[in-house]
Amino acid sequence: MGPSKPTRTPVPVMLDLREYRKGISGVEDCVALWEQLEPALVTVDPRVGSRVRLDLGATGQVGVWFLDPAAAPVPLTRTTPFAVRGILEPPRVRHRCDTCLAEGRTSYAPFLCPGCGPGEGSQAAKGKPLGRVCDEHVVFLEGSLRASCLSHVPECQCGAQASAWCRGRRCRASRVWCERHLRRHPGDASITYCHDCYADYFPVCDHRGCGTTAHIRCEHRQLGAPKPCGRRVCAEHVMRWQIYGRHSRGLALCSLHHGSLQKTPNEKLVELILAGTVTRFEAKKGKRTGNRRQAFLPRISIVRHILINTRKSVLDMESIDALFAGFESRIGRGELDLGSSSNAALRLLRDHASSRREDIERFQAEHVEGRRHFERLVGQLQYEGRREMASAVRFSDYRPRQGILYIRLPRHLRGAFIGTGGATVKELKRKVGVDIRLERE
Ligand SMILES: [Zn+2]
Ligand SMILES: [Zn+2]
Ligand SMILES: [Zn+2]
Ligand SMILES: [Zn+2]
Ligand SMILES: [Zn+2]
Ligand SMILES: [Zn+2]
Repeated sequence: MGPSKPTRTPVPVMLDLREYRKGISGVEDCVALWEQLEPALVTVDPRVGSRVRLDLGATGQVGVWFLDPAAAPVPLTRTTPFAVRGILEPPRVRHRCDTCLAEGRTSYAPFLCPGCGPGEGSQAAKGKPLGRVCDEHVVFLEGSLRASCLSHVPECQCGAQASAWCRGRRCRASRVWCERHLRRHPGDASITYCHDCYADYFPVCDHRGCGTTAHIRCEHRQLGAPKPCGRRVCAEHVMRWQIYGRHSRGLALCSLHHGSLQKTPNEKLVELILAGTVTRFEAKKGKRTGNRRQAFLPRISIVRHILINTRKSVLDMESIDALFAGFESRIGRGELDLGSSSNAALRLLRDHASSRREDIERFQAEHVEGRRHFERLVGQLQYEGRREMASAVRFSDYRPRQGILYIRLPRHLRGAFIGTGGATVKELKRKVGVDIRLERE
């Protein structure tokens, strides 16, 4: 046999020695015969003909059958490893084909059929461990080298005759399926999967009409739910809920869950932030992958903007802190059962508590300063006679380091506030002495 490299799968073959006159009686004979065959064998293409006959002159002919021609390397070379899976020898009575026997013939049967033999009612089969089948009556289904006779071809779960074994993760070549319940590997038609296994390897994007293979899973999760939504979305159709700031990848959401955010109450949104982060935290602990996805809770100053952008609802820092603290105490007292995720959730919430206190204090201090800028803005609007705007404008936030004053304004006044090409707001900024931005809503 050719020198074999352990990393490559050997090409399975059967040897047909029924017209080989010399006969073989031991391993040495077998090796000698193989060395004679190999130079001619590597020049054939198993895809063109899966059974070849090689003429050895005076000693007769040897047939080589490729049992899985589609999986053989192209071309075969002297280093291709082969595995002889069976040898057909001249008929002997000791292995008789049960199918032939039923027809009143006797022929040599090198294969085993689990369906034939004892228990199947055949008188002739009595006392034999398993039924036998000849090369004429044997059936091999794709995906496995298990044999059966014509009448014992395994059945698919649906009752139809199976046409291949599924080689997927769930079936591991131990379940057969019919043509209707099989899908072929897109790059290699000789590999077949059942629909479930196929979906494991080639999940389809959930977005309507997309159909491409999608590897991103929706991270939407309810606290206490065993796992996240998990719907698959492709890179083009994934929606990112940017809860970790601009520079970290937000939670991946399917279109259904992204669409539902706007109608979700504040407390539920905080729950989604917590559950999503717990899932990431646990995934990170489990396997140390190189992913740099954030796995700690976002600061409440960011959460405040998330709530404004997602729900148009403006909460002060104390209220947001209370939402997180509420989850912490309910989980801590066992009122909210997160199963095995409880510890991870509590750890994240406790680590988060000090940054929440910081944010509240900073927010209060900044607001004193921010309010002064805001009062000047209102005064300026009144001075310019823009009374409707002066009474409608609301303070939202102030960032002292960047000198940005965030304000809120009803939709119908926003255009006039900004002015053509931003000219009006630019003039206001100059007069008030601070950068003024409208809260996105
Ligand atoms: Zn037969
Ligand atoms: Zn059978
Ligand atoms: Zn399967
Ligand atoms: Zn079926
Ligand atoms: Zn898609
Ligand atoms: Zn989803």
